[in-house]
Amino acid sequence: MLNVTGIFRSTRQLVVFFVLMIACSHRARDDQPTALGDAADLLDAISSQSDNFIPSAVLNHTWCVVVIPFLIHRNQEIAGDGVASCRERPERWGVPFSITFRGDLSWTQHSDLVIFVLSKSAARALQAADLRIRQRAAAPLASTIPVTTQVDLNAESLSYKHAAGILSSGPVKGTIRRNTSDRSLSSKGADRFLLSLTSLFNSIIPTGIVIHHTAAVPTRNELPPNERDVDYFHQALGLEILCFGRVYHIAYHYLILADGTVKTGRPERCQGAHAKGYNSYLGISVVGDFSGNNNPGGANGARVPRDRQISSLIQLCRRLQARYNIPLQHIVRHSDISSTDCPGRRFPFRFVLKQLEQRPGVAPRSAR
Ligand SMILES: [Zn+2]
Repeated sequence: MLNVTGIFRSTRQLVVFFVLMIACSHRARDDQPTALGDAADLLDAISSQSDNFIPSAVLNHTWCVVVIPFLIHRNQEIAGDGVASCRERPERWGVPFSITFRGDLSWTQHSDLVIFVLSKSAARALQAADLRIRQRAAAPLASTIPVTTQVDLNAESLSYKHAAGILSSGPVKGTIRRNTSDRSLSSKGADRFLLSLTSLFNSIIPTGIVIHHTAAVPTRNELPPNERDVDYFHQALGLEILCFGRVYHIAYHYLILADGTVKTGRPERCQGAHAKGYNSYLGISVVGDFSGNNNPGGANGARVPRDRQISSLIQLCRRLQARYNIPLQHIVRHSDISSTDCPGRRFPFRFVLKQLEQRPGVAPRSAR
């Protein structure tokens, strides 16, 4: 029989030993949630970038995402453990799995690495066993390489590093290996990781503005008096989005009430659900029905928008144009891009454009 107390010089040392043992075993069990938590934190940090972001074209062409929260540099090598997930369907990500990355890159700083796998064959290789990556040039980033070309999108994968809150890109070479011993990361941590991943892919940098009217809520046949009614109606229509860790129902980004008050629908950086093919445009809806067909005599509220509503709309458009460098040509009516009457023939769109035109030009942001 091993005399345990003989190894340790005092009972106190023995107690410390057991405490450390327990702590270590807890740490081992908690490794998966920690890795997933770190990976989710990294995705959240990337989602919240407002000046330097991954172009929507890259996100839209992505089959798998590999997140390595911290790379360790050893001599000329870098290595790190991370998490990956691949799309099962366009809107659904598969159960995350753990990976290990080994390679080299010219970055000297300690950093995190996020890899977007763009080709189906590369996605299959990653899911099966391992994927070799070799990126010779920087991947497109809105601040440094604003135009995403087909050449960029034909790459097997695109890699970005994240260090000190800044995204950048450069040459990378290495192998991502799926950890076969991993019993799939189906835990609470996995749920959080998938929420953060979905949020990242639902985020946008607005490139235009679509103007709508709300028309009447069909179930009640009257105009929505406030944003809560629109929220309820759009929830029933299933227009919700998960973005920045929260669910939003209102399809528009802004709502302008009858008295001219501006209410927020969903955050500006979250994809809209207001105009098919144009949901990276901000949706602004003016409460009212300005259609000659549906509201010919004014039974469904005012036949034209009120002055206060128009004045709020112009101010809001100016603010958004300045914030996202939106050109006047990218401010459209819903009817300009879709077969609909919205926001109605009586909506004074030309007047709004003329007012916006009169303001001093939007200074181009050199960063984009
Ligand atoms: Zn509309």
